[in-house]
Amino acid sequence: MTDNFTTTNSGAPAPADSNSLSVGPDGPLPLHDHYLVEKLAQFNRERVPERVVHAKGGGAFGYFETTEDVSQYTRAALFQPGVKTDTLLRFSSVAGEQGSPDTWRDPRGFALKFYTTEGNYDLVGNNTPVFFLRDGIKFPDFIRSQKRMPGSGLRDHDMQWDFWTLSPESAHQVTWLMGDRGVPGSWRNMDGFGSHTYQWVNAEGERFWVKYHFKTEQGIETLTQAQADQIAGEDADFHRRDLRDAINNGDHPAWTLYVQVMPYEDAKSYRFNPFDLTKVWPHADYPRIKVGRLVLNRNPENFHAQIEQATFAPSNFVPGIGASPDKMLLARIFSYADAHRYRVGTNHAELPVNAPKTAVNSYSKDGAMRHHFNAADAPVYAPNSVGGPHADPARAAETGGWETDGEMTRAAATLHAEDDDFGQARALYNTVLDDAARERLVNNIAGHVSAVTRPELLERVFQYWTNVDPDLGARVRAAVPPRAS
Ligand code: NDP
Repeated sequence: MTDNFTTTNSGAPAPADSNSLSVGPDGPLPLHDHYLVEKLAQFNRERVPERVVHAKGGGAFGYFETTEDVSQYTRAALFQPGVKTDTLLRFSSVAGEQGSPDTWRDPRGFALKFYTTEGNYDLVGNNTPVFFLRDGIKFPDFIRSQKRMPGSGLRDHDMQWDFWTLSPESAHQVTWLMGDRGVPGSWRNMDGFGSHTYQWVNAEGERFWVKYHFKTEQGIETLTQAQADQIAGEDADFHRRDLRDAINNGDHPAWTLYVQVMPYEDAKSYRFNPFDLTKVWPHADYPRIKVGRLVLNRNPENFHAQIEQATFAPSNFVPGIGASPDKMLLARIFSYADAHRYRVGTNHAELPVNAPKTAVNSYSKDGAMRHHFNAADAPVYAPNSVGGPHADPARAAETGGWETDGEMTRAAATLHAEDDDFGQARALYNTVLDDAARERLVNNIAGHVSAVTRPELLERVFQYWTNVDPDLGARVRAAVPPRAS
């Protein structure tokens, strides 16, 4: 091409950049101005639907390097000593829409894609080690309670506290959220967690339960509620901008990955159900073991193509890593891939940002926007006798499994000796926070709860915090202005 001329999307020279075709200079516009129609129609379709959760975010590319030897726990290629793997990390808030302020109090998503030599591995975590729920069947209800009222279109504190107080398993996460770490100073200054329990399998087929902890090398920094509120009004994109500026300035953020490893058999008798997403494994029981280092060093060139259309799915496992009986995880393994098929399209995995660096050798075919196709004479079914690919029998035995009692039931997961809804929230309040952090927690809760309107609900809120700790309950009650009766 010698000239820098505009073309239509089909590559023909465009008739004009500024003037529509009209019947005389002041006349109507004929429908057959196909270039005008193409521009407007394409513009109307520029957005894909925003994510129903984690809509507002940002991210960057980088690498993960395994600096230690954890091969006794997993055979996954990316976690073998010295292996360096390209990654994409997307940060996000949970409840806010596209354009919502980055500094609203909310957990933050920490979604990682590892482009490994064995296919893509996605670890779709948060900046908190726990979550509000332990069964995915409640997830749509939870998110609706945090979003907007159907009539007014407003967010509603009654709805949020109604759900939380009727779901006591939320107490640990809500305590964490109302504390200092509920508003990070930046995405660079917070930790990331896999949160769920996963399974690792080593080369001998031995199984382990693991939890992932990415500790920020920039140090933890947080914003007070007053700082967060002010920044929300001044720069809604405060965290997105901070990450982009830091990487552009050559200040590449890094996290050290540690895992907690539980021998397979321990899970049966551990004092907490180790698959309950509302609980941590105390460090004293399972100390952190260093694995390697994650570095972000490259900003996206195109936000839509590389961040909006990035699709992370907890179902993307690689050999040596599998699921666990965590019911939230099992629900997410379905729902993420399904969300991407709806939001981005059936063939979302073919987009450059989502495609693995390894060959895809599957029998899936066709569908909207299909780009890849097999050779014309390649079989479209398996088994076949004409040389098509076949599954590796060794994988069937090693995809990560566990025993069940085989009985189908709708019941809460088995409680272990020390399982309850409030104990670990109490430990956070009593043993981790210092006096000043406790005071800020009380004030953050009281500020949030002050928008609750129903007296009966307010009583339930005070009881919820009393269940976490009687001192905390009394302090919250004292700090919330009384309602006019
Ligand atoms: P430890 O004393 O060994 O660890 C305390 C943990 O709490 C550290 O990871 C610390 O992170 C983190 N922490 C410090 N301040 C806050 C805060 N304001 N909000 C949230 N987390 C904070 O205790 P245990 O392992 O016995 O756990 C006790 C409690 O600590 C748990 O009930 C849980 O609430 C919280 N916690 C535990 C984690 C775990 O994996 N065991 C992970 C995160 C929190 P840092 O080292 O960066 O200061």
